Amino acid sequence: MRLARRIEKLPSYLFVEISRKIAEKRAQGEDVISLAIGDPDIPTPAHIIETLCEAAHNPDNHRYPETDGLPQLRKAVSGWYERRFGITFDPDREVLPLIGSKEGIGHIALCLVDPGDLALVTDPGYPVYSMGTLFAGGECYSLPLLEENEFLPDLDAVPSGVAKKAKVLWINYPNNPTSATADSDFFDRVVAFAGKHEIAVCHDAPYTEVAFDGYRPRSFMQARGARDVGVEFHSLSKSYNMTGWRIGMVVGSPVLVDALARVKSNLDSGIPQAIQHAGVAALQGNQDCISEHNSIYERRRDLIMDTIKKIGLTASPPRASLYVWARVPKGYTSAGYCSKLLDEAAVIVTPGSGYGKYGEGYIRISLTTPDERLEEGLARMKRLSP
Ligand SMILES: *Cc1c(COP(=O)(O)O)cnc(C)c1O
Repeated sequence: MRLARRIEKLPSYLFVEISRKIAEKRAQGEDVISLAIGDPDIPTPAHIIETLCEAAHNPDNHRYPETDGLPQLRKAVSGWYERRFGITFDPDREVLPLIGSKEGIGHIALCLVDPGDLALVTDPGYPVYSMGTLFAGGECYSLPLLEENEFLPDLDAVPSGVAKKAKVLWINYPNNPTSATADSDFFDRVVAFAGKHEIAVCHDAPYTEVAFDGYRPRSFMQARGARDVGVEFHSLSKSYNMTGWRIGMVVGSPVLVDALARVKSNLDSGIPQAIQHAGVAALQGNQDCISEHNSIYERRRDLIMDTIKKIGLTASPPRASLYVWARVPKGYTSAGYCSKLLDEAAVIVTPGSGYGKYGEGYIRISLTTPDERLEEGLARMKRLSP
């Protein structure tokens, strides 16, 4: 058989390679500690699981779900946005549940990108923005996220020919992997840029609830005019420790929401309904779990910051997201430093270069490793040779 060219050109997903490396070392009997993957270690809160179990027993939930989700889930999403950000959405036209936000992020390219079109994608960045673009036959134009610009893209530096050709701009704040945050000024500039060049904005926002020191991240949808130019992806994965259940949503432009619903109705049959009920419980239930989780992450962040300072890595303490984005010591590449950590300490972190060329020189350390393992990993890192 002959595979399609798009498959042959495909790099393997970053974390697949990391998982393989971990498995290899473990098979050799090494006690490898992974600080590499952003997957909350704390279980899904009990009230959410109880709703899920009850719903699983109800035969109504054993049949095909609708692609666009239960009406009560769409209402729960709009209610959540109203309570959290003070903005309202029409649950039938401006909200669409997703089988995890990654699914929608990948598929929305099919709504916006024709072969040969350009997508503006931040670098470093979550790989799915560019992979979705490539699957749709488009090309990516990288917007570097530089430390001196606080890891925000410089929209004024986009050449006018590029802006003219671009169909979509991908942004993500609080950011993975840099942990940078954006203020309302930046979001206003994004709306103006998108309006001027007729570019759709896709804001990926799974970390708005993972924040520290009392900081409350904003929604892009709070910016005036945001709904006319774009959408925001959110996920229950990081907010409610539900990565394994696969549930997320997109809100915003009714034109884009409708287009994505049309693509999805031809490809998938929605989120298993019991999980949708669990999602309603998460969004409408007691929200204390969010601050409880954040105080655990905050303590881990402080432990990591304390350790990396001692071994010559530099980073600003993140005020949101699940990551410390640290510059490696002089003389190392990202991959070189990761190999050193693996070989000398049996600790795995993610090389910044895996998120794009502008990630070179950094590593990403995740806050989702259980305390005891994290502390052991950090103790090993402190014993690294200089
Ligand atoms: C975790 C993550 C997602 C995907 O979350 P889902 O589990 O697919 O909802 C999307 N974007 C970024 C930047 C992430 O870190």
